[in-house]
Amino acid sequence: MPLNLLHANDARGSYPASWYAATANTLPPFPVLEGDHKADVCVIGGGFTGLSSALHLAQRGYRVILLEAQRVGWGASGRNGGQVGSGQRRDQMDLEKMVGPDDARHLWNLSQDAKTLVKSLCETHTIDCAHRPGVAHVDWNAADVPHEHAYAEHLNKTYGYTDIKPLDRAATCDLLGTEVYHGGTLDMGAAHIHPLNFALGLARAAQDAGVILYEQSEVTGIQQGDPVTISTATGRITASHLVVACNGYLGGLHEKTASRVMPINNFIVATEQLGQDGAEALIKQDVAIADSKFVVNYYRRSADHRLLFGGGETYSYRFPKDIRALVRKPMLEIYPQLKDVKLDYAWGGTLAITVNRMPYFARLSPNILTASGYSGHGVALATLAGRITAAAIAGQSEDFDVMARVPTIPFPGGRALRYPSLVLAMSWYALRDRLGL
Ligand SMILES: Cc1cc2nc3c(=O)[nH]c(=O)nc-3n(C[C@H](O)[C@H](O)[C@H](O)COP(=O)(O)OP(=O)(O)OC[C@H]3O[C@@H](n4cnc5c(N)ncnc54)[C@H](O)[C@@H]3O)c2cc1C
Repeated sequence: MPLNLLHANDARGSYPASWYAATANTLPPFPVLEGDHKADVCVIGGGFTGLSSALHLAQRGYRVILLEAQRVGWGASGRNGGQVGSGQRRDQMDLEKMVGPDDARHLWNLSQDAKTLVKSLCETHTIDCAHRPGVAHVDWNAADVPHEHAYAEHLNKTYGYTDIKPLDRAATCDLLGTEVYHGGTLDMGAAHIHPLNFALGLARAAQDAGVILYEQSEVTGIQQGDPVTISTATGRITASHLVVACNGYLGGLHEKTASRVMPINNFIVATEQLGQDGAEALIKQDVAIADSKFVVNYYRRSADHRLLFGGGETYSYRFPKDIRALVRKPMLEIYPQLKDVKLDYAWGGTLAITVNRMPYFARLSPNILTASGYSGHGVALATLAGRITAAAIAGQSEDFDVMARVPTIPFPGGRALRYPSLVLAMSWYALRDRLGL
C-alpha cells in the first residue's frame, strides 16, 4: 500500500512547525464536513489552486464548497520558498519549440498575469503577506552565465520584458555575501511573499465571497457523473462541477492524474535572528535568490532578519529525521560564515512535478477539472490556475485550453512504477550537482 502523504510526515490537523506557521495571521478552524450537502461546484484542496478557484467561482455567483483534508494552506502552499517567479517553469525558448510561438506567447502572457494576480489579490483583499519585488537567479558555473544573460535579452526583445537585468560576477558578489557564484540575472518583475499568510488571506477572501470551507475533511472517493458525488468519512457532497486541486497530496484519488503528477519533498530552514546588519551582509537587497543547482538552493531574508534557506531534496516519501543537517550542508557551501548559527526552524513540504515540468491541466470528465504539477513554480501559477479553472467552468476556456494543450505524458510505469525511475534519474542529477558538472 503506497504511503499517504497527507499523513506520512505531519501531525493531523496542524501546520508544520515552520517559521511561516510561527508568524501566521491565523484563522479560526473551519468545521469538519458532516452529512449531505449540495453545491454548484465542489473544490478538493485548500492550497493556492483550490482557494483561488473557489474564490473566483464564488465571485462569479456559484455556490461553492471547498474540502481540505488538513488545514487551509497546510500543503505546499503554506510551506514554500515564497518566490513569485516570472514565466513558466520551462523557459520561453523551450516552450517556443514545444508548443510553437503563438502558444508560447500565450503562456508567457499568462505567467505575467499570474504575478499581477497575486499582487492584486493582496491589495484587493488586504492580504498582509509581505509582498516584495525581486528574484535573482545566480550561476555556479561561469559557462552558464552567457546563457542566462542571453535569455534575459530574449525576454527583452521577444516579449518586451525589461524588468530583468544581467548581473556580472562583481555585481553578484556585491549582492550576496559569497564568492561562489559567477553571475546571473536580477528580475525585479518577480517577487516574494509569506506564502502561508497569502493562503490564509485567500481563504478569508473566499469565505467573505460566500465559499463554504471545511477542514479536516479528507475526500476518500469521487463518483463521476452528473451530478458528481464526493465523499469523506463523515459527509457527502453532490455538485454539478468538481475541481481537483490536491497537487502532491493527491495519492490514489484519481489514477490518471497520479500517473502524470509525481510528489517530491523539499526542505527549508530558518536561522536564528541575525540582526539587520547580519542579514544584509548575506543578501544586500531584500530580494529572493534561486541558484543553478539541479537541486535548487533558494533563499532570502525574513522580516525578522533571519536567513530562510531552502534546498536539499530526498527521494523517499518520508521526510529525513534531521532536516536541519540536510539543509545546513548546501547553506554552508554558500555561506560558511554561518557554521555556528542556530537553525530555529526546519520543515519539509511535498510539491508535485511532471515529466516535462509543465503543469497538468485537464478535463478529467466533462464536469471535473484539475490543475497541478507546477514543478516548483506554483506560487503564481497555481493562483492563476484557480482563476483559469473558474473561467473554464463558466464556459470561458481559452486559457485553460492553452495550458491543457501543452503535451503531458505519464511517468514511465504510471503511478505504480514512476517512483523507482524518478529516484534513479533524480539521484543522477543530484550527483552531477555534487561533482560540479
Ligand atoms: C518546500 C517547497 C518550496 C517551494 N518553493 C516554491 C517557490 O519558491 N516558488 C514557487 O512558485 N513554487 C514553490 N513551490 C511549489 C508551490 O508551493 C506549489 O506549486 C503550490 O503551492 C501548489 O499549490 P496547490 O494548491 O496546487 O497545492 P497544495 O498547496 O499542496 O495544496 C493541495 C491541498 O490539497 C489537500 N488535499 C490533498 N488531498 C486531499 C483530499 N483527498 N481531500 C481533501 N484535501 C486534500 C492537501 O491537504 C493540500 O492542502 C515549493 C514547494 C515546496 C514544497
